Amino acid sequence: MLNKLIPRQQIATIYELVLTELWEQGIRGIITDLDNTLVSARTPLATPELIKWLSELQDLGFKVVVLSNNGEARVSKFATPLGIPFVYGARKPRSAAFHRALSLLDLEPEQVLVLGDQMLTDVLGGNRLGLYTVLVQPIALQEEGFFTRVNRQIEKLVRLLNKNT
Ligand SMILES: [Mg+2]
Repeated sequence: MLNKLIPRQQIATIYELVLTELWEQGIRGIITDLDNTLVSARTPLATPELIKWLSELQDLGFKVVVLSNNGEARVSKFATPLGIPFVYGARKPRSAAFHRALSLLDLEPEQVLVLGDQMLTDVLGGNRLGLYTVLVQPIALQEEGFFTRVNRQIEKLVRLLNKNT
């Protein structure tokens, strides 16, 4: 069970995926989590950067499906404008919704990559079906990291200003 929690690959953001390499390895489809993988849980729509990445994926020939434990309203609002098929209320790591996502892709398990930020849902569920699992750092944490750095700069500045007065 524990080794089923280990992703095949670990990256900081989805943009680190080397798409051409994955294609050469035989990957043809991506089952992706939504919240904190593609955008933060509080971001309702895709960002311009994400839209560009998704069209790059499709240009290369990859099929994409969104697989989310979140509800219909959230997932549909996000995925419909992108024209990407989706499965909501997935109850990952349960296998049923992964099977549904696989049939939407119309691909074999060994051709499919799972992208997600949670070991207990995305990685475990994907590994159980023998999919190529990739764990991404949750976007909320990426952003937190960014703001922590900014805050530190501000604190430094405040100390400096205090010193000089
Ligand atoms: Mg997530």
